[in-house]
Amino acid sequence: MTAFTVEPTPDRAIGTGPPRPLDTLSVRDAPKVLLHDHLDGGLRPGTVLELAESAGYRRLPTTDPGALGEWFTTAAGSGSLKRYLETFAHTVAVLQRREALVRVAAECAEDLAADGVVYAEVRYAPELHVEQGLGLDEVVEAVLEGFRLGAERAAGAGRRIRIGCLLTAMRHAARSREIAELAVRYRDDGVVGFDIAGAEAGFPPTRHLDAFEYLRRENSHFTIHAGEAFGLPSIWEALQWCGADRLGHGVRITDDIKELDDGTVRLGRLAAYVRDKRIPLEMCPTSNVQTGAARSTAEHPIGLLTRLRFRVTVNTDNRLMSGCSMTSELVSLAETHRYGWADLRWFAVNAMKSAFIGFDERLSLINDVIKPWYAAVEAGPVPAGG
Ligand SMILES: [Zn+2]
Repeated sequence: MTAFTVEPTPDRAIGTGPPRPLDTLSVRDAPKVLLHDHLDGGLRPGTVLELAESAGYRRLPTTDPGALGEWFTTAAGSGSLKRYLETFAHTVAVLQRREALVRVAAECAEDLAADGVVYAEVRYAPELHVEQGLGLDEVVEAVLEGFRLGAERAAGAGRRIRIGCLLTAMRHAARSREIAELAVRYRDDGVVGFDIAGAEAGFPPTRHLDAFEYLRRENSHFTIHAGEAFGLPSIWEALQWCGADRLGHGVRITDDIKELDDGTVRLGRLAAYVRDKRIPLEMCPTSNVQTGAARSTAEHPIGLLTRLRFRVTVNTDNRLMSGCSMTSELVSLAETHRYGWADLRWFAVNAMKSAFIGFDERLSLINDVIKPWYAAVEAGPVPAGG
């Protein structure tokens, strides 16, 4: 155990009042970076209805877009990861054809760009979209085409977004090596990494060691959903057996952190390793509250981990199921944790540093897009007549 006292750092004071009001409109304008967002968790409710209609899918609970949106957030908010995952049966069912995948990926890029996201990594599991005859390669090409179209439309509307995708393998299935090979095959066309997702308990990441070892030999990047429903062993395996570059959620790393009454904090060896090695944590507050991994946004471990300066990033996970956006996540964190512009800049820079695209591109987005915007807003409005 390593003990240390938490002290504010001179370059990043916590909870300082913003010079420009930090409200929904201004946060939407801010350049934001998103590393953890599921394609099949971010459809527009109206699109789900239209795709269901054209595919002859009759199992949706309602035909009203507003009511359908509410149904998704309510079902996902029931408190169990199992029910949360059930909502995906509907979105995956309507994503079995090429035109559906192109449309949903294009709308995803447009929606994120309209929300002020300048860089996003969006993930999905190709193996879930082959029920009506598409091959894995066709699925990947359809989604890449959709992202290209959506980014073009967003640029036409004055919003620039760079979007990459992560291919996910399902932890309960046995196709991870095949999906890893698919990710490597499309690495020069917009696939920037790999992930495994699905129920954590009973399906440890080491089940997929072959895929991870292959990716490492290919100098490829991957993240692993770990430490959400399951605790430290899952995080430890993801890092020390599988070699994950980032952790999806990772909230349970707090099981290895003790806060003492005198204000000192003790980190266990695993927590210290995660912090020392700057392992990025892809935190998704609303989703974690919905699945019971955190009690509330106010009590979310993101507060402690940010104070301890872990490499924290803020993400949406599933925008449809959580009824959230990058803007709403950040506004809600700002309200509950008293974050100001400097904190939001820190989250954006952390995420950009942790992205799976090349160093030069990351640096350019940090220095040419993110930092100038925050420098201007943190300086406040120019006084009249000055
Ligand atoms: Zn996720």
